[in-house]
Amino acid sequence: MVASVIIEYSVKSLNKVFDYKIPNELYNIIKVGHKVIVPFASKEVEGFVLKIHNEMDNNIEYRDIIRIVDSDFYLNSELLELGKYMSNTLLCNLISCYQVMLPKALKASIKTNINKKYISKVSLNKEIDIEEYIIKHKNAHKEIEIINILKNGEVLKNSITSSSLRTLINKGIVVENKYETNREVEYIESKDKDIKLTEEQDSSVKEILNSSDSKFLLYGVTGSGKTEVYIELIRNTLKNNKTAIVLVPEISLTPQIVSRFKSVFGDSVAVFHSSLSEGEKYDEYRKIMKGEVSLVVGARSAIFSPLKNIGLIIIDECQSATYKQENTPKYNAIDIAYKRVEYNNAKVVLGSATPSLEEYARGKKGVLHLIKLNNRISGKFPNIEIVDMEKESKKHNYIISSKLDIEINQALSRREQVILLLNRRGYSTFLSCTNCGYVYKCPNCDISLIYHKSSNSYSCHYCGYRVNSSTICPSCHEEAIRDLGLGTEKLESFLEKEYNTRVLRMDADTTSTKNAHQKLIKEFSSGNYNILVGTQMISKGLNFENVSLVGIINSDASLAIPDFRSAERTYELLSQTAGRVGRFNLPGKVIIQTYNPNNYVYKCVLENNFDHFFNYEMNIRKKLCYPPYYYICNILVTSLDFNTASDGANKIKKYLDNILNDEYVVLGPSVGAIVKLKNKYRFNIMIKYKKNDLLYKALNEINNINIKNVNIDISINI
Ligand code: ADP
Ligand code: ZN
Repeated sequence: MVASVIIEYSVKSLNKVFDYKIPNELYNIIKVGHKVIVPFASKEVEGFVLKIHNEMDNNIEYRDIIRIVDSDFYLNSELLELGKYMSNTLLCNLISCYQVMLPKALKASIKTNINKKYISKVSLNKEIDIEEYIIKHKNAHKEIEIINILKNGEVLKNSITSSSLRTLINKGIVVENKYETNREVEYIESKDKDIKLTEEQDSSVKEILNSSDSKFLLYGVTGSGKTEVYIELIRNTLKNNKTAIVLVPEISLTPQIVSRFKSVFGDSVAVFHSSLSEGEKYDEYRKIMKGEVSLVVGARSAIFSPLKNIGLIIIDECQSATYKQENTPKYNAIDIAYKRVEYNNAKVVLGSATPSLEEYARGKKGVLHLIKLNNRISGKFPNIEIVDMEKESKKHNYIISSKLDIEINQALSRREQVILLLNRRGYSTFLSCTNCGYVYKCPNCDISLIYHKSSNSYSCHYCGYRVNSSTICPSCHEEAIRDLGLGTEKLESFLEKEYNTRVLRMDADTTSTKNAHQKLIKEFSSGNYNILVGTQMISKGLNFENVSLVGIINSDASLAIPDFRSAERTYELLSQTAGRVGRFNLPGKVIIQTYNPNNYVYKCVLENNFDHFFNYEMNIRKKLCYPPYYYICNILVTSLDFNTASDGANKIKKYLDNILNDEYVVLGPSVGAIVKLKNKYRFNIMIKYKKNDLLYKALNEINNINIKNVNIDISINI
């Protein structure tokens, strides 16, 4: 018997399948979909078994499969099929699609047995006359104490802290036994118990269950109780002996929603999120492989969960950019969900208060079955006010407007909590010399460095470059470096002084350690802090009863990003952040500070009118040929050398102009917002199109051109 194995091979876009002999000891174990190690040339490489068969050629001398990486793990036929679909539509090699479906811990370079976790228990050695030992050692009180505990049976080794335990083990009186265990993941407790659905929630559930459609868009304003709708749908799915997947965008969102799922579904849930260690992910994955769980909750890659008989996939906050992977394979979890739903004859529910324009347009056209939750559970909508910061800066209020200042003072005096959003981490955002005008920039990226007070360094948020901070200018050597601009660190210390209160900061810097998010959320809910300052990670999913005021400090920052989606993202950020108040009994106030109070985005946020925003923005998209009217494909050309990158990009542009007809719009090459990143110069080509037939052919060719020219990198994003 031989196995056809697709192997990992360094040359791009090469899908190579070779036959290998199955050695006797693997005969009854090996399955299609197993990850295996095989010899290739003089190396050992990873591969996946695609077929096991008997068609051997007598003229070929087959080499043996070396080993199976982990016999518990294999890709089932659905996932093998799905990989082919991904490879075809994303224009990437098949094996990278298979690799992304399995937990990283299964990388062959990591030994699998270190991924199993063991616990030690201790018990008395049954072959020893214990009473005799006690008599002989009656003065060894600590030892006798331990022996008495163990007389009742085996206990966890960690539960005994006395050093006498070691003595007993060394003497052979006590024996130590190791057991394989799953790592336990920590959760914060959910306060919600036994919720009865409102009429609106209940009728949404029924509409989804009774419909013959398979794709739904649940558009529900913030605080309308989408989670409970999901839960009811999942209950129904599990009752029918089917399984379900819930995707959530980010770890910052997960603690509260995950704990809710945990509290309802208990041990039948496996959870994946980015703060799990590789070992923990491995454990969760193994539970799925063994069929021990019927519900998987996780971020993007959980869409590949090897669940059988899927009945339901839920994608919460479906507009989130995190569902699209930015590295190869550049898949979108929503597209994968559609494919899996089709395969399993299941249903998919996209949920959001601010769906992407594409999704909402599909909902309006009926491609997705649109269901609305128009009411908040609390019955209260936040009261939103826009403050013109240009007027405020004339009064020298650069950080906090007088309106926001009054509201903060009032909220604090009522002992209520405040959330302030500032979408910039670090202390300051710009460092320059007041004497010679020198600006601190990253040597690898064409970008200003950011001052971080906590680490006393200037650092680049793109490549991680870092230097010690100094007030001496490296150019003119005067002591004249000033830090300008406002980051979360500076805001935190400003607020502490100004309001003499306890401020908690939540951004990428304070949440880099394991479970840090959960700890901060717990701290804030317990009332130990009065103000929470954070970047966009605080805009979604948080549910705090005592928060009555939300302030958005610099709402213009996200509007200024040069991207056709910046208005959409800003609307999302503002209305989601505003949605953090008025969720419970307290009325909610939202203050938005801006230098562009007349921009239509603010008007729509103020009216709390997504439909209005949608219509306005769709008009612009139509005029400018942007999604959802057109598809977009970006080709990014990078090189260490400016001219090489520029020439390469121009060559590609010429090639595309020749091949593509006038149904395609090809723009560029242009340098984006960042000319140089991680030492590489960057050029963008953008293609707008409605049909992709010519384009896919052309892109495949470009990939091949790329193999010939090693000095440029091409990254295609469809
Ligand atoms: P969304 O995701 O739509 O923003 P959530 O699902 O987080 O809203 O629900 C908002 C709050 O309302 C939560 O605290 C939740 O416990 C509560 N809630 C949801 N449904 C009900 C209900 N039927 N009865 C009472 N409280 C509810
Ligand atoms: Zn950098």
